Amino acid sequence: MRKDFLPFSKPSITEEDIAAVGDVLRSSWITTGPKNAEFEKNFKEYTGCGESVAVASATGAMHVMLHALGIGKGDEVITPSMTWVSTVNLITLAGAKPVFVDVDRDTLMTSAEKIAPLINERTKLIIPVHFAGAAVDMDPIRELAAKKGIRLVEDAAHAAGTYYKNERIGKKGTSIFSFHPIKNITTGEGGMFCSDDKALTDRVRSLKFHGLGVDAYDRQTHGRSPQAQVVEPGFKYNLTDIAAVLGIRQLARLEEFNAKRTKLAMEYRKRLAEIDEISPLADCKYEQTSAWHLFIVRLDVKKAGMSRDEFMQELKKRNIGTGIHFRAAHLQKFYREQMGCHEGMLPDTEYNSDRMFSIPLFPDMTNDDINDVIDAMKDILKK
Ligand SMILES: *Cc1c(COP(=O)(O)O)cnc(C)c1O
Repeated sequence: MRKDFLPFSKPSITEEDIAAVGDVLRSSWITTGPKNAEFEKNFKEYTGCGESVAVASATGAMHVMLHALGIGKGDEVITPSMTWVSTVNLITLAGAKPVFVDVDRDTLMTSAEKIAPLINERTKLIIPVHFAGAAVDMDPIRELAAKKGIRLVEDAAHAAGTYYKNERIGKKGTSIFSFHPIKNITTGEGGMFCSDDKALTDRVRSLKFHGLGVDAYDRQTHGRSPQAQVVEPGFKYNLTDIAAVLGIRQLARLEEFNAKRTKLAMEYRKRLAEIDEISPLADCKYEQTSAWHLFIVRLDVKKAGMSRDEFMQELKKRNIGTGIHFRAAHLQKFYREQMGCHEGMLPDTEYNSDRMFSIPLFPDMTNDDINDVIDAMKDILKK
């Protein structure tokens, strides 16, 4: 058995990264400042997006964005239940109704086909999720949203470096990225709002910092009045330079990270073919290139003779870490009790929610680590 614990995710942080953070701490500016500006510029160049705003988290960006779009009482927002709960919570907190759309059983992607029947006159926004590093089939969804006059914001938390056709996610439309430690690059906590809508970006930039016309660093460097005026009441979701400097360094390695993730994922696919009880996700049938954020598998609970949770527990006993991305949002306590959500609403989401788990995948992993994961699975299944 493996001696040390193999986590399901681990950021790749070097001594140079730590030194760069130290340099910011020793400088005279540690909150939003020059490192933020540089990180925003580099991310914009990397994705090819129109505008980029660094934020304290993807959740914070989502909050500001819902507010900027005026989403509230009486509005409906279509999003998958197979997502992180933050989006669903914020829609609810805004006073709007989350309308859950199902996903494909084997790719976990939603689609224009699944979204179209849920649209009505109250639908104000659609938030598709690029899942596990692969891209949603955006063209038909963009067409549908444009035809109906509904806003579209992509949850790109898993999609830093993902290509849809020949464009990086972020280049077109409006996307929100996350730099939480499990994501493809990290700033500790952090996120990036990207959009080709200049007016929306300007509002998000202002709203993420008190709704002042300018941010603190602008005030100093551009000699603006130190008492900037509130243009409209805003939030406080700016990113510190301590975090941004890490983002700059991580972004420079994103291609290297994703190449390593892809190689490991291909090795997993080859090795998992030896275990019938375990099935990975399938490739999307349209043109896209995955950033391999997660390696998700589903357990055949009948063949295995145990539940997914028991299987994860057995892996943990063998020093293999796993995670669940995600338990269906619509079946969580609040959404069951307050919104009348129930089993049977979203069959393919629920199928996966009961069987799925993420196995270790991160850039610094080795093929020996993959061997340990496969050996542990075979040991549990007595192969
Ligand atoms: C991580 C994640 C988020 C939230 O990102 P934070 O930066 O932690 O706020 C949103 N959506 C999805 C799909 C995620 O995986």
